[in-house]
Amino acid sequence: MTTINDLDRKTLVHPFAHLADHDAGNTPSRVIKKGKGIRIYDTDGIELIDAFSGLYCVNIGYGNEAVADAIAEQARELAYYHAYAGHGSEPSIKLSDEILKWYGPGMARVFYGLSGSDANETQAKIVWYYNNVLGRPAKKKIISRLRGYHGATVISGSMTGLPFYHTAFDMPCGPILHTTNPHYYFEAEDGMTEAEFSKKCARDLEEMILREGPDTVAAFIGEPMLGTGGIITPPENYWAEIQAVLNKYDILLIADEVVCGFGRTGENFGSHLYGMKPDLITIAKGLTSAYLPLSGSIVGDKVWDVLKQGSEKYGPFSHGYTYTAHPLCAAAGLANLKVLKDNNIVANAKDTGAYFNSELRKAFSQHPLVGEVRGQGMLGALEFVQDRSQKQRFDAALKVGAQVSAATLKRGIIARAMPHGDILGFAPPLITTKEDVDHIIKTVAEAVNEVTDTLTAQGVKLA
Ligand SMILES: *Cc1c(COP(=O)(O)O)cnc(C)c1O
Repeated sequence: MTTINDLDRKTLVHPFAHLADHDAGNTPSRVIKKGKGIRIYDTDGIELIDAFSGLYCVNIGYGNEAVADAIAEQARELAYYHAYAGHGSEPSIKLSDEILKWYGPGMARVFYGLSGSDANETQAKIVWYYNNVLGRPAKKKIISRLRGYHGATVISGSMTGLPFYHTAFDMPCGPILHTTNPHYYFEAEDGMTEAEFSKKCARDLEEMILREGPDTVAAFIGEPMLGTGGIITPPENYWAEIQAVLNKYDILLIADEVVCGFGRTGENFGSHLYGMKPDLITIAKGLTSAYLPLSGSIVGDKVWDVLKQGSEKYGPFSHGYTYTAHPLCAAAGLANLKVLKDNNIVANAKDTGAYFNSELRKAFSQHPLVGEVRGQGMLGALEFVQDRSQKQRFDAALKVGAQVSAATLKRGIIARAMPHGDILGFAPPLITTKEDVDHIIKTVAEAVNEVTDTLTAQGVKLA
């Protein structure tokens, strides 16, 4: 009999899978059947705690009936109509109003797509359009950061500062540049304080702008705190330093809030937490808690004024998708934001997130395998190093991060081995309780200890 796993291997291309090994049956095929709260269940009946919320997106947890009902109701009423040329449907209009309220002053309009990647493509097009309207045809370059993550399509994937996403695909391409990775632990020179390191990041940015010519640089894109690049919080005063450089050269700031937006850091947006003043904001994952795909490019007042001026020069704004402002996705978004509000879930994320991060530090900051414990709100990470005093990484062939992730999974908990380092990342649903946190941390500690013992038995010297 063909199992569902056999069928999987013979029909589907998985993102980020070793294609040949998967085809040959040498990598795991796990088919998830059901989810409830913070738990998922696979077709073999195995129950797992999802301490990564899928891909940091199922913020309200699995199996929420209110959101499911809202989607079903909307599907019966009106599953689809387009949003071209002044047409629309109620959910996306009401959702835009909600999103603008969630953010507060400064933001003017929302443009919808279906993924974080396409929303960042839209941001690039808005930035280029903006400078064309203003008669600055050379001001088009977008600076992102090494270790930044902004998606996987051609321009958003080029903004992403991770070589793994580029090498085999002739990327990065387009007018995209990458500046310093703001990871204090590895990137700061000896003796530098965090605030000094932030100044250095700003200096590096300014030097890049001057090298390129300020009249060629249009925008800077950054996640309030780095996500896929390793769950890295910015060093002290980082955003104030960066923002000052951007203001000096009339460069727009795009805050990529795909992970941070809607409560993940314990505030509505990461921009609020770090005092950023973005001109454009990208949202996706937390907007619908992944009940349906939906993303947004939020346009701030300053950019919106110029977009309107563009009508005279260019006529209608010639950008959009068949599924822009899709009513079902918008209904899911509206219901998700209502669940967040009605249940004070952002406040829980702040409170439980603070507990999670302090417990994580308590459990691991002195651990012989752990170089750095970091995080904010419901985001956290452990960075494993061979030599703590020298901040020396393990030989990549040892796959220490993957080993810890596997040892954690064996104990029923999903935490993610992140690319570009031996990093175990956490992004539990925002509904996670302190009891859940205790269980997760205790279990991860067992897994980390197991891998430490294995490495020691293999003769790997830890220092
Ligand atoms: C996930 C992510 C994206 C891309 O979103 P997709 O929906 O996967 O295209 C963009 N930016 C950030 C910060 C992300 O975490």
